[in-house]
Amino acid sequence: ISVIVLVGLFWIYRHLESIKQFINEQFYDDDPALGVNSSGCRDIAQVLRENDKNYLVLFGSQTGTAEDYAKKFGKELTARFQLRVMVADLENYDFESLNELPDNMPVTFVISTYGEGDFPDGSVNFEQFLNELEEGDDSLGNLRFSIFGLGNTTYEFFDGAARKALDKLQNAGANLIGKLGEGDDGAGTTDEDYMTWKEETIDLLQKELGLHEDENKEYQPSFIFTQMNEITDKTSLGEPSKQYLPSETLQYDVDGKQRGPFDLNQPFVAPIVESHELFQSPERNCIHTEFDISGSEITYETGDHLAIWPSNSNETVAQFLKVFQLNPDEIFDLKAKDTTMKLPFLSPTTIGAVVRYYLEITGPISRQSLGLLVNYAPVTIKEHVTRLSKDKELFAAELLKPKYNLADALLKLNQGEPWKNVPWLLLIEMLPKLLPRYYSISSSSLSEPQTIHATSIVENTANEITGINTTGVTTNLLRNISLSRTNDKFSEIEAMPVHYDLNGPRNLFADSRLPIHVRHSTFRLPKSSNVPIIMIGPGTGVAPFRGFIRERCAQVNKENVDVKTLGKMILFYGSRDNNDYLYKDEWIEYGKILEDKFEIDVALSRVQEQKIYVQHRIMDRKSEITDLLNKGAHIYVCGDAGRMAKDVQGSIVQILSESKSITETEAQEIVKAMKVAGKYQEDIW
Ligand code: FAD
Repeated sequence: ISVIVLVGLFWIYRHLESIKQFINEQFYDDDPALGVNSSGCRDIAQVLRENDKNYLVLFGSQTGTAEDYAKKFGKELTARFQLRVMVADLENYDFESLNELPDNMPVTFVISTYGEGDFPDGSVNFEQFLNELEEGDDSLGNLRFSIFGLGNTTYEFFDGAARKALDKLQNAGANLIGKLGEGDDGAGTTDEDYMTWKEETIDLLQKELGLHEDENKEYQPSFIFTQMNEITDKTSLGEPSKQYLPSETLQYDVDGKQRGPFDLNQPFVAPIVESHELFQSPERNCIHTEFDISGSEITYETGDHLAIWPSNSNETVAQFLKVFQLNPDEIFDLKAKDTTMKLPFLSPTTIGAVVRYYLEITGPISRQSLGLLVNYAPVTIKEHVTRLSKDKELFAAELLKPKYNLADALLKLNQGEPWKNVPWLLLIEMLPKLLPRYYSISSSSLSEPQTIHATSIVENTANEITGINTTGVTTNLLRNISLSRTNDKFSEIEAMPVHYDLNGPRNLFADSRLPIHVRHSTFRLPKSSNVPIIMIGPGTGVAPFRGFIRERCAQVNKENVDVKTLGKMILFYGSRDNNDYLYKDEWIEYGKILEDKFEIDVALSRVQEQKIYVQHRIMDRKSEITDLLNKGAHIYVCGDAGRMAKDVQGSIVQILSESKSITETEAQEIVKAMKVAGKYQEDIW
């Protein structure tokens, strides 16, 4: 027996690597939900050592954008300098061993900011680690790092998370390479901000680490591609998560219901029970959609966000397949080359499913992507493509201004002819994931706990330069569904610039269903219903306020709250004219319930010569606003993060400054303090 045991142990020892690989292949590689941490070890230094990595990129991502940039950065380091990069989610590791990394192994952090300067939900452990660092104790004296933050300058605490990380790391002795990079979504410059930071940082890394760029570099995929012959129960045809594959029916509850939790990793496929057009004139569209969540155990609170998982339109899919000469029916399996890589989507799958459901193929072409494609440009245009990828201004004028997406731009550059040589795996690695879009929920969890309402303006603008309408992925899908629910809308469907496969993979979305999940926000009514509220929400910014008002109505109707005890509720609403006045009739009904406690003040910007916006109406009523603020009113702003939120804040600052006879700077400090105390809340995008 001893001899047999010894021989067995010796055999296992000899075949350890193959056994590990077998286990990984069986249990990890085919599950995109599993991150780099397939060994279960949370010690960052140990995982790097065990996987023989020599560069670390860590990301903290709320919606997937920071993850996308982190991967791009890692990929570029691998492609240009053959570094063995591990790209990992901050969520999956502990950082006590961060200072043990060899000093020729710097770390790059890519961190997005969420809410009021907060870290992404999954990065709380990292934030805690930072908070526990002793200032000035040099506990991270060996660490060299670079950092890129993603934020939005229209928020008070722009790039708060990355700035805090920088501060804390430096205070603990860590050494910054280059400068903090800051992507500004508010100005729409995230991509160019990233490019500038990346170019400077890589230059420095090259010098500090003595990296040599391989001139004859060839694209090295991070995945192994295997062609498959047939579609099986395990093949994804675009299912939003593994649970929905036929092979996984056991994942459903006994009664056949989808099993949660439902979040960014796995949505609930919800039936749409109501959907209609809100605008009166045909030029623009805004869709009201109601999702049924009964039986899903999803809960939401008034003021939360709904994430809707879109798919790409037939037209954009066809254009993409055409430019790269891809066969949508080709079936393939993907395996990560090592266990620190995460598959970008379910596999095995088909090229058609990936293009339609998993890749972000619309949106403006990025200079970074064009740069990656230079080597595959047809010879006749290679020189021009190289120039475009290097010259920011030329790129902006020639490709961004006309609003080309990737496929349209490439076809335009090659006079309508395809780019035949681009590797499919490069496209998979280069393009961002098709992510859910968020909507401020326009229903109330007290009034209708089992349905979630969304109010979405349809993004569709005629483009005079290209003749191709610039369209939004999700909102046109919502409109397509809305029209398809009524028999007499055929001509309107025909006239849409884009159309969708409404049945989805294996008919999963048939009968008006879409994958959704709820993201909890901090946009909340005051705890007590007698606190007055001032709501400012032009356009679809009115969405959460419809939820707020419905909540107050339900308090009166369902909970017998005495109307007289309610605090005053003023809603400043704005639209162009009566044709796009959202929920016009509903406000009258709410007024009947809430009596004089509810008032809507409407600024129709285009019905008179001089344009009137919500901020003008606020100024016109400054004495009432002062009065309400003195009574402890909370201010809520929702909608356009660009100008509106700033202008509204300007008006409030002015009112405070005049009423309290203080300087504008002092008034700004009051607004800042109100924001920190949750008395001035913004839900802006
Ligand atoms: P996308 O496909 O994401 O396109 C975005 C924009 O880019 C569109 O305007 C599109 O026309 C344009 N575009 C597309 N291709 C190109 C190109 N090649 N070049 C240049 N531009 C291009 N919206 C609402 O209507 N109601 C809400 O209540 C609401 N609440 C929100 C709450 C939060 C917290 C956030 C973050 C956003 C909210 N939004 C809301 C915005 C919403 O999430 C979407 O961004 C919006 O609906 C557009 O989604 P889409 O998929 O249709 O467009």
